[in-house]
Amino acid sequence: MADDWLERSAASYNKYSLDSKDDYAAILLMPVDTLSEIIEWTFRSLPDEILVGIDPDVSRPHPDGVNRRFTGSDFQSGLFAGQGYVLGAPHLVNRGDSFSVHHVPEEWIDGIFTEDRGSRGGRFTHWIHSHPNAVAVPSEADADAAQWTEGCDMILGVRFSPEGLLPWFDEVGGTRRRLSPGSNSVKSDKGNDSLPVIGRAVTGHLIHGLEVIAFHRTGLGINLIITDSEGVPIE
Ligand SMILES: [Zn+2]
Repeated sequence: MADDWLERSAASYNKYSLDSKDDYAAILLMPVDTLSEIIEWTFRSLPDEILVGIDPDVSRPHPDGVNRRFTGSDFQSGLFAGQGYVLGAPHLVNRGDSFSVHHVPEEWIDGIFTEDRGSRGGRFTHWIHSHPNAVAVPSEADADAAQWTEGCDMILGVRFSPEGLLPWFDEVGGTRRRLSPGSNSVKSDKGNDSLPVIGRAVTGHLIHGLEVIAFHRTGLGINLIITDSEGVPIE
């Protein structure tokens, strides 16, 4: 069960998704427990970046009414693999710096996932990777990597301190989507007085903020919506 702050953050995230539905070509439904697990892996791995693969749960099509309510005037059907299905369980595939994390040897992956996913188990429909101390906006390398993604790519940006070698880089274009409960933030007791603290990772890092986006290899933004385990948007 996801933390209370994440449930409230999801509700506020989804309100933005609904309000801006005409800016997106398609929607993608992510259960909050899936998001919660990815956030936990992200925090445990700091300051490294992680890469997570996710397949659609083909037993779970979008619940009635969600498409009608959350898709807008630019909606495109058949845009990506797995469209119309809620995301399934996440699989942690790699961990490393931003240069190495995307380069996963095929044979290594095949070995890791052979037991539960078959011999080609490393190939996922959707991918999400973390951006430690960077905004959740695709880099040029991310746009290139996405060309091999059949589903959607997602990015989870996490701002934390102490920052280490890579300070937060805020001057980036593109649509930012904060994942934040808003008013419930508390002040840090030292060092970063101006930054709210939403939690502390097991690595000892203070977490100041999260953001998450989804995008398609064509460069179109995908409207991510955070749901319960059935695919019903959290409100
Ligand atoms: Zn990236």
